[in-house]
Amino acid sequence: MSRPLKKISSKKRVFKEPLQAPKGVHDVIFPETVYFSKLEKICEELGEFFGYQKIEVPVIENKLLFEHGVGIDTDIVEKETYSFQTKGGDWLSLRPEFTSGIIRSYIQNGMDSWPQPVKLWTWGPLFRYENPQAGRYRQFWQADFEFLGSENPVTDAEVILLATKIVKAFGIKSSFIEINSIGCPECRGNYRKALKAYYRSKTRKLCPDCRSRLKKNVLRLLDCKNEGCLTLKKEAPEIMNYLCKDCSSHFRKVIEYLDGLNIAYVLNPFLVRGLDYYNRTVFELKPGMPETGQDAPSLLGGGRFDYLAKLLSGPETPACGFAIGVERMVEMISNKNFEPEVDVYLCQIGDTARGKLLGMLEEFRKARLKIGFDLGRDSLKAQLTSADRLKAPFALILGQEEVLREKIIFRDMKTGVQESLNLENLAEQIKKRLAKL
Ligand SMILES: [Zn+2]
Ligand SMILES: [Zn+2]
Repeated sequence: MSRPLKKISSKKRVFKEPLQAPKGVHDVIFPETVYFSKLEKICEELGEFFGYQKIEVPVIENKLLFEHGVGIDTDIVEKETYSFQTKGGDWLSLRPEFTSGIIRSYIQNGMDSWPQPVKLWTWGPLFRYENPQAGRYRQFWQADFEFLGSENPVTDAEVILLATKIVKAFGIKSSFIEINSIGCPECRGNYRKALKAYYRSKTRKLCPDCRSRLKKNVLRLLDCKNEGCLTLKKEAPEIMNYLCKDCSSHFRKVIEYLDGLNIAYVLNPFLVRGLDYYNRTVFELKPGMPETGQDAPSLLGGGRFDYLAKLLSGPETPACGFAIGVERMVEMISNKNFEPEVDVYLCQIGDTARGKLLGMLEEFRKARLKIGFDLGRDSLKAQLTSADRLKAPFALILGQEEVLREKIIFRDMKTGVQESLNLENLAEQIKKRLAKL
């Protein structure tokens, strides 16, 4: 039997209370980890099918990248990006989004000389200094897909198709797209003027934030969640009436493709997204039905960014992409239909059995069986409780006597019925029983 650890003096404790993670930052722990892995795997498989290559971009980038990429007047850069000066005097930022870093890498690595288009995807944590609230964290995960080197409207539809496929494969049965076009720099200029003229006469009814946004970037007013600003928005001019011929025909074609694919969508004339680099198509995906789900927070968002590469002093590269909010997706389905974690739980009694099981692990790995075990534990009851917690359908129990007889006890966790199995070809015998479940 193992003995309890020796006691240490309380004077040796460094903190009175255990330290907590910083505000707004969360641990990803079981069972969320299971859903994180599941979503990442779906992204990888569907991404591969659609021709995307994995890319890993750094967590830290030059501060200027986001100021020029995302936009210096955006909430993300102005209020939410963590920036710091290094000992060497450089200003760096923790990435608040993926697209700018991926385009920086595309330019730096000369990917414009690769066969076009270049499709890239990535997965990882991002950082924004936001007010923590349900589903919003200061370190959060995104899956990001970027289709670089095509200006054809069919690309927008292909990107949206991939987004809907991922959401469906993850188990979110109904969802729809909110879509809009925000035009090109040319036609958006006219829309900006109209929007400014509309809001200028109503300055006193705007929230303080919007009053300053009116001077800097009038499109940001359409993102405001303030009640008064939302009411004013209802009567605001819509961009559809200001799109140039090319932008208008691009958008019409995207919509035609979506119709052809039977993808549910609604036109949202005020969808602009909070980043400066977008042009033409912008979209978000929300759970539920278009009729009832429009107030739901979006699970993913994206759009076209034909000018970003040029803006970052690279070659002209029309592009389209989207980013999935991993935590939001996971919250949608976690705690529902939780899948069993292990196929079989291995229990042992005594040192001989412990050693024997340790040697048998490889057989289970080769057979690709998901197993649970805790070789350091003595009590059989505690081991069976673990088997229950992991929702293992079966347990195997190995004691001194079984080792000598080359046998093992097989237990059906649901019925409690036990039988004796030969150790030879054990994995195969387990697999047969799993197949009958
Ligand atoms: Zn245009
Ligand atoms: Zn406002």
